Amino acid sequence: MPLLIVVNMFMRLQKAVSAAGAENQPMEMNLLSKLEPVYQTEVKCPVCERDFEISKVRSRAIRLVKHDTDFCPYYEGENPIYYEAVVCPHCGFASHITAMDELNRIEKQKVRNFISKKWNPRSFSGYRTWDNAMEAFKLVLLNLNVREAAHSEIARICMRIAWLYRYAGDSELEQCYLNHALNSYKRAYEEEDLSGSKLDQFTALFIIGELCARTGRGEEALHWFSRLIKEYSDPRNKGKIPVRLIETTQERVQEIRNTDKTKTEAE
Ligand SMILES: [Zn+2]
Repeated sequence: MPLLIVVNMFMRLQKAVSAAGAENQPMEMNLLSKLEPVYQTEVKCPVCERDFEISKVRSRAIRLVKHDTDFCPYYEGENPIYYEAVVCPHCGFASHITAMDELNRIEKQKVRNFISKKWNPRSFSGYRTWDNAMEAFKLVLLNLNVREAAHSEIARICMRIAWLYRYAGDSELEQCYLNHALNSYKRAYEEEDLSGSKLDQFTALFIIGELCARTGRGEEALHWFSRLIKEYSDPRNKGKIPVRLIETTQERVQEIRNTDKTKTEAE
């Protein structure tokens, strides 16, 4: 929510409070705090071990309007994706908010050597604009590259950078990061043990297929989607693959086949 709207809302509430009398103030102020979509909380940096403030979006202050077939979400109100990239203001360590503690001793040392030494202290706390969010995500990507982190984590961040470019209507840079995400997801699928990770192997198959489709590789997309459909028909995977994921996969296969047909007819 733009700052000006929040300030105006605050002024209106203050007026309402003074008109209603002092006894109503706690309830009205409580209402105001509920309306504030972004709040601050403290976390400890795993690299420099100092505390710092991060901003989060209240889930009740937003509404998911829709999402694209690659899970890119659209919200009414503040976009929580903007706040997923966390940056330590003291040392420059940056990561996805859910992966802050997933680095070992060697990786911490790499961040200290290659990032902290060149870092000018600055904060990413408070409301985020598109530019702040993009800069924070690029810092996360830089950190992951310096750490030589898991491909699945690099892929996840590339996806979010691609979504930010999609929100801004920059399809050229969106494509560039979708391609990076695709290459990293493929390497994650081939080289990493995805059992028990946030990205399970079936969702990985879908995302790889989806990214192929979005980067103009229709035939390859069909190959990855059909692998997922085959896995679904295997009795050993019963209950492991959400029905909704398979339905979406089948819809995407149909869409790609229809697009191919339209292209052939046009030629
Ligand atoms: Zn730090």
